[in-house]
Formats: sequence, structure tokens, C-alpha cells
Amino acid sequence: MLHIPFNNRYVDLGDTFYVKTQPTPVAGPTLIKFNDALAHDMGLSADGIDVGDVAAVFSGNAIPAGAEPLAMAYAGHQFGHFVPQLGDGRAILLGEINGANGANFDVQLKGSGPTFYSRNGDGRAALGPVLREYLVSEAMAKLNVPTTRALAAVATGEPVARERLLPGGVITRVAASFVRVGTFQFFAAQGDAESVRKLADYVIARNYPEVASAENPYVDFLSAVIERQARLIAQWMQLGFIHGVMNTDNMSIAGETIDYGPCAFMDAYAHNRVFSSIDRDGRYAYHNQPGIGLWNLTRLAECLLPMLDDNTEAAVAVAQTRLENYKDHYQQAWLAGMRAKCGLTAQEDSDQEDASLIQALLDVMARNNADFTLTFSCLSQLSGQSSEHDGDCRRLFDQPTEFDDWAVTWRQRLSREMRGEE
Ligand code: AMP
Ligand code: MG
Repeated sequence: MLHIPFNNRYVDLGDTFYVKTQPTPVAGPTLIKFNDALAHDMGLSADGIDVGDVAAVFSGNAIPAGAEPLAMAYAGHQFGHFVPQLGDGRAILLGEINGANGANFDVQLKGSGPTFYSRNGDGRAALGPVLREYLVSEAMAKLNVPTTRALAAVATGEPVARERLLPGGVITRVAASFVRVGTFQFFAAQGDAESVRKLADYVIARNYPEVASAENPYVDFLSAVIERQARLIAQWMQLGFIHGVMNTDNMSIAGETIDYGPCAFMDAYAHNRVFSSIDRDGRYAYHNQPGIGLWNLTRLAECLLPMLDDNTEAAVAVAQTRLENYKDHYQQAWLAGMRAKCGLTAQEDSDQEDASLIQALLDVMARNNADFTLTFSCLSQLSGQSSEHDGDCRRLFDQPTEFDDWAVTWRQRLSREMRGEE
């Protein structure tokens, strides 16, 4: 049997934080994919283990030694409306692993059957979305974007009823933490300040140990979450990634991309692009993502207020000051990444000038239905080349001459780079 070196801590927080839940066995588990590279990083190996045994563990049919399966409680703002109790309706935390260098690997099955929090849901996942989450989250990891990872995908051999019957699947997800902004809201909404503090202490110890010795660790914790989230969303924007459902229950406290649902990498660039059919008003459209990030963080700050200062007015002032830093963190991370995508590294030009050059490109892309990923991919081929080589890039624009005009300014700027063309 697979050995997993669990060291579970969340379970110690007490039974108001979760409901212990066993996965519901499935009829015919088949292993579709096991992530050997990730397993290696986690100190696991499935080498020499019967593939049927691996499928049994990652479908929930067999519980590995040391696991303490539970469904986590959380609340959340869904499309702006507060729901006091959501929780893991189809996910079960098996346990936690402490890796080398302070890395944490929390291991969770998703699609493993109903829990206390399932409401009317079946607790299951269709295989299509399972494979989609596997691919997109692993792509994000390879793109150096903080994200939950995919350890395994299993077909259950059972159908799930959606608009029609679909094959079922279970994905095993790994995260630095499965605590969400909504987990803090769950306790704060009940006026349970002690549990909010307990949760914060748990998260600080595991995910933000660097703030533990601060004069007020909770203030620095808030700052650190704000900074990680700003940087994360800047990376999404640089990839044309649209999360789709940025509810507070889908925002990780560890600053990782989490809960891949109707997400997408945008094709033709439009700042207001939406992919999720349930997002009718475009609340989570591409260009709204940075602002929604701040909105969600403001909800987190509200939960932490009693810990920021004994005096409420002073606490609000502290929270506001920290939240105001979000914009700068975001802008800096966005500009640095976009400069890199355009081949600009010299800092001699003002931020404002480079930001305008990049914005001008995005505007031309939007007017001309240019593919987001392909445009930047093509640009990276062009750096150091004269305009005769622009063919592939020009073709991405409805009116190629609009690209030509922008490229003139871009090449003037590139010529001021002090580096070699490569
Ligand atoms: P989401 O916004 O999709 O991440 O999920 C919102 C809430 O619905 C969470 O509490 C989920 O656990 C729950 N949920 C989603 N799908 C199901 C399902 N098939 N069965 C039970 N609960 C579900
Ligand atoms: Mg969710």
C-alpha cells in the first residue's frame, strides 16, 4: 500500500472547523493519470505499487494509513451575496504532509462523495472537468503561477447525472492550504472571534511563518496575504487567464489559484471577456479580476479587524492602509511581467512610458481580435528582428497595419535595451 507521511494539524483545530467524513466507495476505479514528478516532490512514490491499489487510494476506496478524512467548513460571498455556510460539498481532506523547506502539501480528494455540506449536490465530479482541472492546474504550475496541483485523476466507473449522464471522476488535489477567505468568514459571521484567531494562528504557522515574530503578527499576515494575492492576479492577467468564479470561498489564503471551474485562457483579446455561463453580469470578467481580488481581501480584513487593534477605529485605519498597498503590489508585478513578455528589461524608461506602450498593444489587440497567447508568443520570436519578419504576428490582427504602427514604437523602445538581442 502507498505510504503517505501524514502529519495532520487542521484536525486539531476542533470539530467546529470540519466534519469527519469518509469517502463513498466507487464501483470501478481506474487510474487515468498519476503525477510522478509531484509525488516525488512530496516524498511519495508509487513505484512498484500495484496500479489497482493506487486507483483505490485516489478514488477514496482505500484510506491510506495516517489519513484523517474530513470535510472543511467555510462560508463565502457568491457573486457578491453572503452565504453563511458552504463547506466542502464534494471534497474530502485526507491529511497534511510537511515537505522539506517548510513546504506543505495538503491532500484532498474532489468528487469523492457527499458530505455534511453537500446540500442538494451529489458530492461527485464528472470526468471531463476532473481532467480539465488536472491539465489547467499543472499548466499553471509549469508557468510558475502559484496553484493547487493535481496528484492523480481516476475514473470512477460510475455515471454522474448532470444535464445528461456523464462518466464520473475523482481528482486528488494538493495545496499549500485549503483554507479560504471564506473559512475566516465562516467564524467571523458567527461572531466567533476566538476561532478566527485560532484559524489565523494555524495559517500563520504553516503558510506565513515569517510574520509570526512581528509586533502584531495578524497585521503582517493581512499584508502578506494582500501581497501574494496581488502578485497572483497580476500573473493571471499576464497569461490572459480568467478564473471564472472568484467568490471568497474560491480564494486561497495561501495565495494559490484554487477551484478550477469554468476557467479559461483567453483567445481573442477583449478586456471584458467572460467564459462562465453563470456569470451573467460579468462580475468576474477578465478586467474585473484585480478589483475583485481587492474586494475579497477587504472581506478578509473585516474578519481580522478585532485582532488588528483593540480600538475599532484604529483597526479599520490599519486595515485600510494595508489594503491600499494592494494596488502598488499589483501594478509592480503586472508591469514587470508585461515588460518581460515584450522583451523589455532595461529600467531606463519610466514605468509610465512602458505601461503606455503595453496598454497601446492591448488596445490594438482588442480592436483587431488578436489572440492573447499567440500575440506574445510571436513577439518573443521578433525581438531583434527587423519588420520583414513580422508576417506571423501581423496575421493575428484584423488590420495588420495597426500592428505595424505599434511595432515601430516598440522597436524604438527595444533599441534602447542595453542587452544583446538574444
Ligand atoms: P464552487 O463555487 O463551484 O467552488 O462550489 C460552491 C459550493 O458548492 C461548495 O460548497 C462546493 O463544495 C459545492 N458543490 C459544488 N458542486 C457540488 C456537488 N456536485 N455536490 C455537492 N456539493 C457541491
Ligand atoms: Mg469552491
